[in-house]
Amino acid sequence: MKWTKDYVKEAAEDNRIIAGFNVFGHEDAMAIIKAAERAESPVILMVNRDARRDLQIEHWGSLLNSMAEAAKVPVGVHLDHTSDPESVKRAIKAGFSSVMFDGSKLPLEENIKWTAELSKLAHENGIYLEGELGAVPYDDIGETKIQLTSVDEAKQMQDNTDIDWLAISVGNIHRLVGRFAPIHFDVLDEIQNGCDLPFVIHGSSGITPEDMQKLKLERIGKMNLGTSLRKTFGDTLRAEMEARPEEFDRQKLMVKSVAAVEEKAYLILKSLM
Ligand SMILES: [Zn+2]
Repeated sequence: MKWTKDYVKEAAEDNRIIAGFNVFGHEDAMAIIKAAERAESPVILMVNRDARRDLQIEHWGSLLNSMAEAAKVPVGVHLDHTSDPESVKRAIKAGFSSVMFDGSKLPLEENIKWTAELSKLAHENGIYLEGELGAVPYDDIGETKIQLTSVDEAKQMQDNTDIDWLAISVGNIHRLVGRFAPIHFDVLDEIQNGCDLPFVIHGSSGITPEDMQKLKLERIGKMNLGTSLRKTFGDTLRAEMEARPEEFDRQKLMVKSVAAVEEKAYLILKSLM
């Protein structure tokens, strides 16, 4: 099913969270759709910068939309972190159901200006726009500085744009492996008191199961997950290749990886319902 309404906003108001998973091919995309069908939950497939290096936005749009249409649950097709307005416009044309314009590194005024313009364009095309305020560091490239989202800036973003979802920095960190980052619930509460938007948490592979459950009770509508499924796929593939050194057929070698991704995505989806 296509993504026909704002399931993220609904989830934010209803103590649930929609999972957005980064995908890198049709194999993991299909595994995630199967997991969502089993869980009877909407899900979002996200195309990030790494994925766009291998395949153009337009190709991703066609591939993932045709998979979404055939699914038994609503499947969103989302453009992840993009600071280039032209790429956002291409994704809107390519039929994505939501796009992220990440102007968090720009001066506030400029971030607001672009977010306002692109959210207007997104709405004219019947889709949703996610923006960002604050800085969520990337652990894999050694970034350490967490710049928490300011409630004042969140208010200004809400008042001056038609943004649908706001990605915030409340302690979360991208691409954590083997350790967790604590969520600052006091900061989150403060932002929620000053701004009515549904919020998005990135770097969710690095959040403890306890914090995940607590976040369901807050106004969080979407959580982005990439690393946990990437690691599941890669670790399973490595084990399979070591166990079957004569096998060369990629379709056969990936069977267990795809099954493992489906199971992991299913458990995550169930935990967020
Ligand atoms: Zn992110």
